Amino acid sequence: MADIDVHLLDRGRIHADENFAVDTSVAATASNRNPDFEYVPYAVWNLVIDTPEATVLWDTGSHPNAAGYWPDALYEVFAHVDADEHDLAADLEGAGYGIEDIDCVVQSHLHLDHAGGLYQFEGTDTPIYVHEEELKFAYYSAKSREGSIAYVSEDFDRDLNWHVVHRERQLVEGVELLHLPGHTPGLLGALVDTEPPLLIAGDEAFFETNYREEQEMGASLLWGSRAWAESLRKLQDVERRHDATVLFGHDRNQIEAIDEDWPT
Ligand SMILES: [Zn+2]
Repeated sequence: MADIDVHLLDRGRIHADENFAVDTSVAATASNRNPDFEYVPYAVWNLVIDTPEATVLWDTGSHPNAAGYWPDALYEVFAHVDADEHDLAADLEGAGYGIEDIDCVVQSHLHLDHAGGLYQFEGTDTPIYVHEEELKFAYYSAKSREGSIAYVSEDFDRDLNWHVVHRERQLVEGVELLHLPGHTPGLLGALVDTEPPLLIAGDEAFFETNYREEQEMGASLLWGSRAWAESLRKLQDVERRHDATVLFGHDRNQIEAIDEDWPT
């Protein structure tokens, strides 16, 4: 086991209908034609994975000005209500790190609630790891009317030192990257060699329900349903083999239960 410390950065809350995370969690029925929708907080988090070889930042969260430049129609549905109180540098400082302490960044994917802090690394030589399929799909989406509206070019179309991940690989000793297509084509997760091991599922499973009950996210949050199901099997297999703790993408209950000693 490598000597690895993992620090959780709580980056605030997006408020949105629960149906986006858990497909038809609320639906009209014959006996209840007008059910109440559940408008719930979604947690946004990043990690500092501090290994002997490198200090890794996992994702960069939303831009503090999310309410300003996210597409209006999208912000109306996914409101990151406290993004302006969660500057990345300030949240890192809360965990005892500065931007300059970060040796490399892994972008699990490039959606706007994950890539909004990349501007802090603009013009630096800090490697930014991203999967090949993700970088392609992000540009395709942001620069055309195709793809997904959750990619905003202001987040990532910058002077950054991209390191493109073509296949699953070890990032540094104790951190294995996993390709988990489904939510997006190039979603990355990871297995981190802590005690117990930490399995970063990220947005493959927004909430624990997606993972444990194998309930899909809503269609607007699924790039590929079949790929998503295969990635879920893969994660469940890794979880079993390593007896790992699984970290979900936006599960507020999980994030709020994490304490100092986690995941050890
Ligand atoms: Zn997300």
